[in-house]
Amino acid sequence: MASVLTDKHPCFSSEAQHQYARMHLPVAPQCNISCNYCSRKYDCVNESRPGVTSEVLSPAEAYAKFEKVKAAIPNLSVVGIAGPGDALADWNKTRETIELIKNTDPDVLFCLSTNGLLLPEYAPEIVELGVRHVTVTVNCTEPVIGAQIYGAVNYQGTRYTGAEGAEILLNNQQAGIRYLADHGVIVKVNIVMITMVNDRHIPTVVKKVKQLGASLTNIMPFLPAQGSVFSGLPQTNMHDVTAMRVACNVELKQMTHCRQCRADAIGLLSQDRNNEFRSCAATTLV
Ligand code: SF4
Ligand code: SF4
Repeated sequence: MASVLTDKHPCFSSEAQHQYARMHLPVAPQCNISCNYCSRKYDCVNESRPGVTSEVLSPAEAYAKFEKVKAAIPNLSVVGIAGPGDALADWNKTRETIELIKNTDPDVLFCLSTNGLLLPEYAPEIVELGVRHVTVTVNCTEPVIGAQIYGAVNYQGTRYTGAEGAEILLNNQQAGIRYLADHGVIVKVNIVMITMVNDRHIPTVVKKVKQLGASLTNIMPFLPAQGSVFSGLPQTNMHDVTAMRVACNVELKQMTHCRQCRADAIGLLSQDRNNEFRSCAATTLV
């Protein structure tokens, strides 16, 4: 069942990327952690990277947009929620959006991406909702490394920093991945490769998430985003990323065709058509 579904998911199957389209619905603007590489903003320019969107939609607006896109793109197979914040930090909006679409179109594949902090809380509902593909970003397994990557972790009403915050996040990510994998969800783990921060630690991350039940990892280059804490660090070069993917492929299947899409991306992975469907509400997230 799971592999049949994955055959239609352009991110989880490299063969499907040329045949099936996906759309990201930007209904989840909030986030509960601060990654030092993150800069989120709404835009009306042709910028393409995670966290960027031209608009944030309510669940009802998202449903209307889905109907419009489905009519225009018949090979749409996947609806994903990838922020622009964290899909679980705005769980009520994420869940409502999925329910609205699922009620009228039960064949759509749903996909979520999350930092994993709230997976222990929401993983059972994710399974119950019928979401079969989840991406969790796991950049390390050691709190001391996480302390360099995460500025803060806001959990259950308290703001944690340093290794203390990272430890909560990493424990929750790992428990969540195990739960999802044990309940038939296909888990992809994204890893942002940051030179001199976590690059040498990545094989350990891949090994760990494999033990937890993840099906593949997606090692992505760090992109210095203007306005982020890490804006002065060098972009990770693709030669190093490719070498790391090759090395880690011995352990676990690697995704090599990720486009690091916007939070409102639409269409084939190779052809983002978000500008055909957006209403351009220029605002900046702070
Ligand atoms: Fe930004 Fe995503 Fe990190 Fe939240 S989890 S701070 S949205 S990169
Ligand atoms: Fe797929 Fe990567 Fe784009 Fe997410 S960011 S939709 S995994 S290609």
